[in-house]
Amino acid sequence: MSAGPITENDHVLIVGAGLAGLRTAQGLRDGGFTGCITMVGDEPHPPYDRPPLSKQIATGKWPAERAVLMGEERRAELNVELICGDAATALDPEAMTVTFASGAVRAADRIVIATGTSARHLPVPEGVHPLSVRTMEDGMALAGVLTGGTPLRVVIIGAGFIGAEVASAAADLGHVVTVIEAQEIPLGTILGPELGAICGHLHAKKGVALTTGATVERITEGPGAPYGATVHLASGEVLTADLLVVGIGVVPNTTWLEGSGLQLDNGVVVDDRLFATDTILAVGDVARFAWHALGTVTPTRIEHWQVAADHGATAAHSLLAGREKAQPAAILPYFWSDQYGVKLQMLGRPAPGDTVEIVLGSEEDGSLLALYTRGNLVSAAFAISKPRQLMQLRAAMVAGCTKAEALAVLGL
Ligand SMILES: Cc1cc2nc3c(=O)[nH]c(=O)nc-3n(C[C@H](O)[C@H](O)[C@H](O)COP(=O)(O)OP(=O)(O)OC[C@H]3O[C@@H](n4cnc5c(N)ncnc54)[C@H](O)[C@@H]3O)c2cc1C
Repeated sequence: MSAGPITENDHVLIVGAGLAGLRTAQGLRDGGFTGCITMVGDEPHPPYDRPPLSKQIATGKWPAERAVLMGEERRAELNVELICGDAATALDPEAMTVTFASGAVRAADRIVIATGTSARHLPVPEGVHPLSVRTMEDGMALAGVLTGGTPLRVVIIGAGFIGAEVASAAADLGHVVTVIEAQEIPLGTILGPELGAICGHLHAKKGVALTTGATVERITEGPGAPYGATVHLASGEVLTADLLVVGIGVVPNTTWLEGSGLQLDNGVVVDDRLFATDTILAVGDVARFAWHALGTVTPTRIEHWQVAADHGATAAHSLLAGREKAQPAAILPYFWSDQYGVKLQMLGRPAPGDTVEIVLGSEEDGSLLALYTRGNLVSAAFAISKPRQLMQLRAAMVAGCTKAEALAVLGL
């Protein structure tokens, strides 16, 4: 028999003090849970927001404090015991304990894994330190270099959303920026060739050089401390960087769970209610959840802010209801990216083979909305600077809609 709903005598341990962990705690309190919640994170900070790191923090527009999600007042309101700077190193599902780097062993009635992801790195020789942008320290370091007042040669490896946002921030601040991308079309695997190419053109419009189909052969020492490097491409091209930033994706933080017996496969594998076992759940970027969409259920790991937030609410519901009575998560993925003065947004999640059509606006207009369809149904909608129209589609897409229905919602 599976464990039932949590009671006020139960202790919930949330491992990872990020957005998804915080939203789980918040959801539990909103749902009336009065028991003990402990949240332990390995960073020295209370939970903070990551999207500003490559945007307002990178450009020096925001101080670090502005990105804090749970200050002392909020922590006290939520009545959460918060422990910062202690990394979980092992989980024992039988004993329901988590061991930490400090030597502490914490027992709980329910454990929520919310350890997110870490930046993927490239091999570099000793003494070379490219910047990734994942943590507050990374964001502050980036801001320190970019706002130093000296024009720099900035090289960014990876033209994904974070790479593009850093390129945009650096170009805005007057630096000479080059972006290196392995794919022939940036974002092509996510958005498809036509829309990927349109996003790629945004770089050139702001004077940022983009080299696609490029393979980085090696990275060697370069000018300037602390983030200078020389990038050697397989084509023979050599790029000198006063600042090298690497944005080539992330890996889920599951090393500490090896040997726990939990199923790990590109994240912690959980069901559609986010349970890994009857008493252990996983949420946010680290969770590979059984995602219900367009009549199918697919194990999926999604690295979007809104999904992490929605997972928190779902996990709270699952804990309060118990595994048997909990409802499957209703997740419509949503992300946004701010770059070069435009807002890119996507609802849903396209897959290779989906048909895509721009139904509103155009590249020349500087704003557009595109619909992706699979079979008869809309699988995703992507917008460049059309936030109102994109959001108009939300309710229809949650319910599941055909292209004709989506066009009707848009008044087309
Ligand atoms: C620079 C940047 C910009 C972004 N911009 C956008 C955007 O514009 N739009 C969008 O939709 N999404 C964006 N995202 C993605 C979004 O921020 C993530 O989806 C979200 O932060 C995921 O939240 P999480 O709580 O699952 O993981 P995280 O935010 O990664 O939090 C996990 C926490 O767990 C900690 N942890 C890891 N291992 C352990 C351990 N063993 N023990 C204890 N603690 C541990 C981590 O250090 C971290 O503090 C951005 C991300 C980054 C990095």
